[in-house]
Amino acid sequence: MAEQFQAYQIGKSDDGQRCVLTQLDDSDLMEGDVTVRVEYTTINYKDGLALTGRSPIIRKFPLIPGIDFSGSVIESSHDGFSEGDRVILNGFGVGEVHCGGFAQRARVNGDWLVPLPDGLDLRQAMAIGTAGYTAMLSVMALEDHGIKPGDGDILVTGASGGVGSIAVAVLGKLGHRVVATTGRMQERDFLTGLGAADVLDRSQFADKARPLGKELWRGAIDVAGGNTLANVLSQICYGGAAAICGLAESMNLPTTVAPFILRGISVYGIDSVMAPLGKRKQAWQRLASDLDLKLLDELSFDLDFNDLPQAAEDILNGRIRGRAVVKLP
Ligand code: NDP
Repeated sequence: MAEQFQAYQIGKSDDGQRCVLTQLDDSDLMEGDVTVRVEYTTINYKDGLALTGRSPIIRKFPLIPGIDFSGSVIESSHDGFSEGDRVILNGFGVGEVHCGGFAQRARVNGDWLVPLPDGLDLRQAMAIGTAGYTAMLSVMALEDHGIKPGDGDILVTGASGGVGSIAVAVLGKLGHRVVATTGRMQERDFLTGLGAADVLDRSQFADKARPLGKELWRGAIDVAGGNTLANVLSQICYGGAAAICGLAESMNLPTTVAPFILRGISVYGIDSVMAPLGKRKQAWQRLASDLDLKLLDELSFDLDFNDLPQAAEDILNGRIRGRAVVKLP
């Protein structure tokens, strides 16, 4: 009899979609040339949307959710990987159209895998996860724009969340003066501990934005969209830039052309899912070198595999601080 493993599986019926914890075997996995023993996974905002069905993230049923994982190769016919290799996977539609990381096993296309960089272990890789890797892609976008430490303040929105907390930690370590916004002012000490020089209440960014505000930020990393992002754009200094990656507030962007045509600001869209492999490897290498791993311990916590459905609700309700790491049973 084929070996069985534990997995969450999302199915769809006329009553809608339903997520169950069940036993599967290799025949339930999808095609791929590398099989991985998943050792750690995590919960990202997108996983929250997928598990609760609040957005149509899952586009193939039945499917194992989980957009990222780290683990060891069990079997491979891919040239780049052999048994025992330690790997990370995030994106490429895994947990959306291809079975993902909320299972003890995954079978994937080896071209999607990133070798675990020196300096990181498998748990740290998932303490970083898609959120942290997206934070690094955002930092790299601001650097590519020419922003250097000392050039001026960098604003990070949603700073207590996954992307935000790692963005604050990386920017702080690189020597930037970071200002964090949060809806949880009780997390001020947590955020200054990560490297924020100042912490602002996000309510200051909630009202409809004026076309132009006071020039405050050389750069910004935004996870919120909506009025928050519109206010941020109106406050970016002449020639500055924002890296935008999220929609925690809204998909809408009620802004004007004023910051672009009167202050020459730039906006960089950040996509983690289909980012090319070279950029992924660079981002993961940079995380191994430019993130204080002691801070990573502080901003991550262990979550039981059985508690993933509750964590899905929590992350959508802004109740998760930092990064939740799930060790597969
Ligand atoms: P988290 O839930 O961990 O963090 C989001 C944070 O946003 C919350 O913790 C909260 O921080 C803040 N927030 C929540 N609601 C609002 C609101 N109404 N207005 C303003 N701020 C709000 O999620 P992640 O960090 O994992 O992801 C953040 C966003 O980035 C999500 O929208 C996600 O889908 C997106 N994302 C995009 C990726 C890409 O490839 N482009 C990849 C990864 C994530 P606080 O309490 O501190 O204010």
